[in-house]
Amino acid sequence: MLVTLKEILEIAEKRDCGVAAINTPTFESLVAAIRVAEKNNAPIIIQHAQSHEYINQIEMIGPAMVALAKNASIPVCAHVDHGESIEYLEKGLKLGFTSIMYDGSRLTYEENVKNTKKAVELAHKFGASVEGELGMMAGNELGEDSPDDNEESYYTDPQLAHQFVKETNIDALAASFGTVHGFYKRQPKLDYELIKEIAELTKLPLVMHGGSGLSPEEYKRSIKNGIRKINYYTYGAKAGADATKDFIKNNKAVLFSEISRVAQDAMEKNFQHIIDIFCY
Ligand SMILES: [Zn+2]
Repeated sequence: MLVTLKEILEIAEKRDCGVAAINTPTFESLVAAIRVAEKNNAPIIIQHAQSHEYINQIEMIGPAMVALAKNASIPVCAHVDHGESIEYLEKGLKLGFTSIMYDGSRLTYEENVKNTKKAVELAHKFGASVEGELGMMAGNELGEDSPDDNEESYYTDPQLAHQFVKETNIDALAASFGTVHGFYKRQPKLDYELIKEIAELTKLPLVMHGGSGLSPEEYKRSIKNGIRKINYYTYGAKAGADATKDFIKNNKAVLFSEISRVAQDAMEKNFQHIIDIFCY
């Protein structure tokens, strides 16, 4: 069934577990995410990032996401990830997405607050939830550094986070406490006390971005300290690609539909692994 982010995070809170928020820019990853959630009777978030428009446009993959979420036997939230404009977020909401993330983390604090408030006002008209972000996270899915990449920017100020939440009325907060988007070039240094401090001050479920690639212990400790939504993309997509490379190498005549299936199965297996960790 299709639910909002707020509802799904309440379930996570009750079960004291983390919910996987899987980016599903392709039909294969979408089916893999829903299948693994149903098999495990685990709630799941499926999300489409604005930066993935080059893979599939939200108008194409969005209706499939919403339809599969509605038909699923478990609670599913369809979420717009890293929306950078109100127009894009509105597009998602009109397609039936039940949650949006407005990413104003690269703006000044004041501008971020102003735009996040607009996103909240819009989403609430649709009965949807909002994730806001404070504290810039470096890197993208390919592990490239942002131009303004520096160590300082990896950690969110807890007092400012508290103020941000009060001013914007968001439902979940993405904060920076040491993870980096994309492939890890060096092992991230997570600040668990900071997670705890922000969670206690804001009284909101926290979101981990750049989480694929952490160890099971790192995930579990983060969840224990207040992380409820864990964004997951890079390492799942890599698992799909690796499986297709092997398949092509080992088979002479290959059809795309077969490659598609191999990738889907490999991603499902990869997602199973994270669900086992998050819902411990
Ligand atoms: Zn992210």
